[in-house]
Amino acid sequence: MPILVLVTAGYAFAQVPNGAMAVAAVDAQGVRTWDESIDSWLRTGEVQRTRVVTDTIVSGRTHEHLSQYHRGVPVFGGALTRQQAEGLTLSVFGTVYRGIDVGTVATLSAADASNRLTQTLGVDVIASPELVVFPRDDGGYSLAYTIDAWSSGDLVEYFIDAHTGVIVHRYSNLWTQEGISARGTGVQGDTKKVSVSSSPGSGGFVAEDRQRPASITTFDLGFDFYRGLAVLNGSSGLSSADVASDSDNLWTDPTTVDAHAYMGWTYDYLYERFGMSGLDGRNTRIRAMVHWMNPNLYWSYPPEYRGHLCNAFYYAYVDIIVIGSGLPSSVGACNSLAGAFDVVAHELAHGVTRNSSNLIYEGESGALNEAFSDIIGVGAEFFHEARGNGLPYPANYTLAETVRPDGFRDMAEPENVRYKPNHYSARRIGTADNGYVHTNSTIVSHAFYLAIEGGENRTSGLSVQGVGPGRRADIEQAFFRAFVYMLPENATMSMARAATISAGGTSGVADVIRDAWDAVGVNANQEVAIEYEHLRKQNSSCGGELDPDNLFYTVNITTGPTGFSVTRETGAVYSSSLERLSFFEKGAAGFEDAYGQSYIPPETSISSNRCWQASNTGGPSDGYIQRQVTGVHTSGEQVTHYTGRYPLP
Ligand SMILES: [Zn+2]
Repeated sequence: MPILVLVTAGYAFAQVPNGAMAVAAVDAQGVRTWDESIDSWLRTGEVQRTRVVTDTIVSGRTHEHLSQYHRGVPVFGGALTRQQAEGLTLSVFGTVYRGIDVGTVATLSAADASNRLTQTLGVDVIASPELVVFPRDDGGYSLAYTIDAWSSGDLVEYFIDAHTGVIVHRYSNLWTQEGISARGTGVQGDTKKVSVSSSPGSGGFVAEDRQRPASITTFDLGFDFYRGLAVLNGSSGLSSADVASDSDNLWTDPTTVDAHAYMGWTYDYLYERFGMSGLDGRNTRIRAMVHWMNPNLYWSYPPEYRGHLCNAFYYAYVDIIVIGSGLPSSVGACNSLAGAFDVVAHELAHGVTRNSSNLIYEGESGALNEAFSDIIGVGAEFFHEARGNGLPYPANYTLAETVRPDGFRDMAEPENVRYKPNHYSARRIGTADNGYVHTNSTIVSHAFYLAIEGGENRTSGLSVQGVGPGRRADIEQAFFRAFVYMLPENATMSMARAATISAGGTSGVADVIRDAWDAVGVNANQEVAIEYEHLRKQNSSCGGELDPDNLFYTVNITTGPTGFSVTRETGAVYSSSLERLSFFEKGAAGFEDAYGQSYIPPETSISSNRCWQASNTGGPSDGYIQRQVTGVHTSGEQVTHYTGRYPLP
């Protein structure tokens, strides 16, 4: 991920070596400066307007989405959003990259790049390669083709160097319910209304809802695994013969009934709460695919596919959600995921994201993408419970608890279900699950929970006076406006904080949202803090050679603010279940650092490439390590900056 500098009024053009400039401007001065820059970039073609969307919640507002180009080639992740009212700009969010020095003439053709990928990896390319400028982690730029391919049960986005054919970067672009396979409990056994149509050909009935403005269709693949694969890898399309059907209109397949009814309910929630017409604002068709894989054939499927039985995902290429039918009881407790309304709404919310902010499914923007889907999933439950529409279980803040014993995530007490973080300081860092998108999402969704229900954050100890369940619509609408209209694809949690506060308006809602973000440790100036290199295990001297016999860990600060007086440096080692095992404080026994024993706080700045090191001799070989630095900014604000929790190398 690029190093980001949060740019606000007065710091409009702060830059870091790799040239990424981030903005979260909601104040008059910051907005004016960026407005002028954007207008000039529009004239030179450095940014181009991709679309203008009309706000469905606050009348008179429009949201411009702008993409960055380098000599006509799109810059991956270079994007801005600009909110306007009567020609006046109200907010600007996004990141643009400066100092791009790559040529735009590719050595390889798009077909060359695609063929190389197919031949070397045996994947199915499912979308035409697109030439982009890719900002690399090391701060440089590559001219690359971005190629989406179906690979071993996953949708992978590859970035192929347009000159050498080398893979520069890749990540999973399958927008799922959960990062790994999980378990669930039984179906509800309830009856519910399904909107279906009579089928002119067969004389029976099909799961096609023609009562709502968007057509809603459920496809039943009848456990034809290879047919499903063909649909996903693009070699075959779905037809009317695949639509779920029933001869006597007494629908008995619980998965079809739930998937179909819950899609309709999600449509109603999006329209009635947010004025959103379907997943894209234009009532484009909404579709689900069920019974792709048979739970009873679990062991016969390739291992990398088995997880899909207890998972669900949104698949943009054929605009469909795919819902797992559950696990056989001999493998684990997980029932058909269609039995959870929040799961169905979560997946459809990915469709909303795809058609709006299009948050990149990696790192913090990926965690925001996941958090938004959980927020919509839970919001839809409470909405329909209040309406008395027959939700067969109590609405709550836990995701998918009706299909597996504890559910996937709990927004109220994130730490209680699968060790999810309730605070920014507890975010996990690493490459698993695209940078832990299904883990770090609870930092955001917990802030949403606190803004409604109130309560004390268990890490910070900060209490929030929520708006109360009776005013949940205010919080839901503020988050929806921020995520759907205001955030760009490369958004950070800090930007989400600024956008949701701004969207909260002036009725006291904004103050509650600010308190909630404070409680979960997401600050306005997060990016002005510190960026760390990934943790390394090496020998006892910072920067020394790797010595596998010595368990020393270092964290290098690669950039940090000046005018920040360090008063305390600490670190901790956690077990794999996140139990805190040991604690280090600078100057105390067990904590060595590159600056020796002469260190006396405070220091007046954090220099680059500063190395911290803690001995973990005798400690665990797996688990996590985290560093913290406390100090005072020149503004007088006392702040503790945290690294994430890095897996022990
Ligand atoms: Zn998801």
